[in-house]
Amino acid sequence: MKKDELREELIGIPCIIDCHTHSGGLDLHNFLNQSYPSAQNLPDLALKEKLAGVGYFITFAMPSTFYSLDASLESFPYEKANKCLLFESSFTKGAIPFLSIWPGEEEQKQLSFAKEVMSEGRLFGFKLHSVATKTKISDLEGSVFIDFLEKNNLPIIIHTDNHNESANPNLVLDLAEKHGKIRISAAHVGYFDSHFLEEVGRFPNVFFDVSPLSRLFAKSTRGQIKINPALNYDSPSKLLESIVGMHPDKALWGTDEPWTSLIGKGEVILRSDPTSEVKILESLPASDKMKLSYVNPLKFIFGE
Ligand SMILES: [Zn+2]
Repeated sequence: MKKDELREELIGIPCIIDCHTHSGGLDLHNFLNQSYPSAQNLPDLALKEKLAGVGYFITFAMPSTFYSLDASLESFPYEKANKCLLFESSFTKGAIPFLSIWPGEEEQKQLSFAKEVMSEGRLFGFKLHSVATKTKISDLEGSVFIDFLEKNNLPIIIHTDNHNESANPNLVLDLAEKHGKIRISAAHVGYFDSHFLEEVGRFPNVFFDVSPLSRLFAKSTRGQIKINPALNYDSPSKLLESIVGMHPDKALWGTDEPWTSLIGKGEVILRSDPTSEVKILESLPASDKMKLSYVNPLKFIFGE
């Protein structure tokens, strides 16, 4: 589907939009280490989303790429995964494909591919996973991607977490300070980082997604993510309610499917999927649900 067609379909017809999913191939890290998830194709993801009552979903490649394994396997990072994703989205309803990027590696080749996709009307935005690409969020500064995003009114989703300095959510705010026109979504609520959640309100161009909520909740209550005293950890629903209460215009609903589940060494700690994530979303008051899963995503995707 083309961007103009999607806008026409979405405006004025409220539905649930998932702002963070992965599809279009393999996750080599998990595949080679016998971990989960290792693969997901886009039609299968679409089926899961449909069963959950989700209308549309932003989707991008698995974090790892052949390029990170052996640069001779692709002429630029994420080449195979991005191409597979675009092909599969051409016959899969509901998919909103974002291209994965890797700052500092074959940037011109990545950019010319993005331009080609844009000329077909099918470029919706970019995704950066700094940990998987062994880069830092701040490496975007000075890359060809910043200028391109600014000139073409495109959004970017950036992975954040609390155990890699390269993915520190506060680096998103530094970037937003310098580039007030680029819409950025910091993935995973910035891992509930106190400074990030206190400051993000000052940045009109910054959003954050709440994916994968059940997993983030489980990690928090198991001591793997620092508890933020401003949030309510009584249940996943209470946690979501407190996040939305703090920043009603910034939160984007998302699942991170197939990273909804929490896997330990050889054991399944938590099993979730889009259907159970939608149940948590449905526990919100109707107006909050609408903001999180429809109003805010539209602002993020189209900038309106
Ligand atoms: Zn993800």
